[in-house]
Amino acid sequence: MHNDAKRGNPAIPEAAREVHEALQVDLEWLRRQPGQATERVIQLSQEWIDTVCADTEARAGQAVQLSAQLSLHSDGTLLVRGSLTGEILAPCGRCLGDAGVDASDELCLTFLPAARIRDYLKNTPGDDPEGLELVASDLDEIFYEGNAVDLSNVVREQLLLALPMRVLCARGEACRGMCGRCGAMVNDMPADATTCSACKAPFMDEPEEHEQEIPAWKRKLMGLSDDP
Ligand SMILES: [Zn+2]
Ligand SMILES: [Zn+2]
Repeated sequence: MHNDAKRGNPAIPEAAREVHEALQVDLEWLRRQPGQATERVIQLSQEWIDTVCADTEARAGQAVQLSAQLSLHSDGTLLVRGSLTGEILAPCGRCLGDAGVDASDELCLTFLPAARIRDYLKNTPGDDPEGLELVASDLDEIFYEGNAVDLSNVVREQLLLALPMRVLCARGEACRGMCGRCGAMVNDMPADATTCSACKAPFMDEPEEHEQEIPAWKRKLMGLSDDP
């Protein structure tokens, strides 16, 4: 699933590039580090998060922090264990005001050298559908090429998956959103108002909620098929 991920995406703006670089793990460098595991703490800047969220309605709040422990085994397997902590902002489904979305999550990733899988498949005599299936089905393992592992794609996916389909601002269910007819902010009108103070339209029993369709990129990440 990840092995064909593009590297060195030219669309990364200059301000986000520093974080993108920090998310590249140089395995040669890692191999020279003493001890079993190397700790890495990376602040995912607002610019980087805004780049990640570019196709969504969300945007950066404060910086999200990635803390990870990297351990490289002699066979080239890289284990990344850690966590994301922080918040992203998404528009409230009713009033479109900022709603904080907790982006905190655990990270548990295994990267395998792609060459090893190719060798394995090559040395497996005959047609071995079981072997192939085994490789293809294990989505927890990510293949990498060469001497560097790019963490940016997996961290990006993790942040995007943290975005829920329905978000409400700090008012929660008490948010009365916007007038369905003229768009005036009902939250600013008297609490007992039954008609819009701007256009005089009567309010519905339930506040209007802005329905969000699951975008194609998210369906793909969630493993949902577009086929019925
Ligand atoms: Zn709201
Ligand atoms: Zn109105």
